[in-house]
Amino acid sequence: QAAPLGSSVIPIVNKLQDIFAQLGSQSTIELPQVAVVGSQSSGKSSVLEALVGRDFLPRGNDICTRRPLVLQLLQTKRKADGTEEEWGSSCIILEDASMISPRSGEKFKYVFIVHIIHICMYVTLSNFLQDAVVLNSGLLAHYKCDSSDVVRRVKLDSFLLCALKILEEERLNAETAKEAGDNKGVSDKQIRLKIFSPNVLDITLVDLPGITKVPVGDQPSDIEARIRTMIMSYIKKPSCLILAVTPANSDLANSDALQIAGNADPDGYRTIGVITKLDIMDRGTDARNLLLGKVIPLRLGYVGVVNRSQEDIMLNRSIKDALAAEEKFFRSRPVYNGLADRCGVPQLAKKLNQILVQHIKAILPGLKSRISSALVSVAKEHASYGEITESKAGQGALLLNILSKYSEAFSSMVEGKNEEMSTS
Ligand code: GDP
Ligand code: MG
Repeated sequence: QAAPLGSSVIPIVNKLQDIFAQLGSQSTIELPQVAVVGSQSSGKSSVLEALVGRDFLPRGNDICTRRPLVLQLLQTKRKADGTEEEWGSSCIILEDASMISPRSGEKFKYVFIVHIIHICMYVTLSNFLQDAVVLNSGLLAHYKCDSSDVVRRVKLDSFLLCALKILEEERLNAETAKEAGDNKGVSDKQIRLKIFSPNVLDITLVDLPGITKVPVGDQPSDIEARIRTMIMSYIKKPSCLILAVTPANSDLANSDALQIAGNADPDGYRTIGVITKLDIMDRGTDARNLLLGKVIPLRLGYVGVVNRSQEDIMLNRSIKDALAAEEKFFRSRPVYNGLADRCGVPQLAKKLNQILVQHIKAILPGLKSRISSALVSVAKEHASYGEITESKAGQGALLLNILSKYSEAFSSMVEGKNEEMSTS
């Protein structure tokens, strides 16, 4: 079974964050963003979804992402009773049915909170949620919210359905705009989704519009340049991990993904090659050499995946089933024997996890020096009270010293006050 993205890192991060919380600072561990790039319909959204293990992104030959979709996973602390601590208003509380322990029947053991902001100006969330969600007044009272907060408890799947509807609406709006003749094809404006959960890492995943070359309809003639500029604005950040997605049934040498990733990350320290659609390659061909990096070498290497086809999506095939089918695919193809570490979504997740661990290791020296300097200033303060001593007499002297310093400070403050009074 696939380890969810970041699962092996969560305990480490938790420990570090607890230490920093004691020092009075928090959120010190900034994890990199992960962005997917590639040409249109190369399978970018499919890859992200498979990584998160949930389907909620618009996919399809036609349904492409027209705006950067920023999916922010945010870790929340769990209270002793298993409920969440706090969140802003206008949030949706999700209960993932599959996460509730059937044995204990503990209610709200895992509560997901999803907070949608700025989805888009013209979509009112509640319109979409009405039929899919149940407003639970007991839960609202529990969290001291009233219904005007638009706080609703839904099953995670219903929420994802809603998100899909919203994104679909987004697409329809883009279509309409195209018909109206004011279509710019893509927009820089982000769609942001936040998922709060105790079981995720603070990590941001970005689904970017695909690179298209030929303007469609009344798209501007510089559509390709516009998309490239937008993509670069995300992936040029040194903290951004790039998943460069290329379908196996196209020529790697012509890969838009590798080309743009190469511009943003020429040394290849943060680019992972992802080869999709291994299942629909030309008969008699395979991706062995691609995955081995023999065609175009890549420092962090390649992972080959088999995502759901459009038919699978139409047949409502679940991600879980798709992962099982993927595993079977690789098992039944002798040509991929011996390449187990480069095949399948779980391997991609593992690779990302390793990179995240590396990243955390890399920022540890910085964290360490912060702790050391905090230690130095505490030690200095301590030393200013006098010699450290074990003997009773010495401790008495130290206490006397502290007290006399205190009384000096106190009396000079009082005198200061008196002087002020007498001169006025
Ligand atoms: P994007 O435009 O890059 O985000 O691509 P999508 O993820 O929307 O995928 C485009 C189409 O290709 C969809 O119909 C997917 O079902 C299909 N697809 C993606 N990956 C694979 C794959 O590995 N195998 C097959 N057969 N179809 C895939
Ligand atoms: Mg997409």
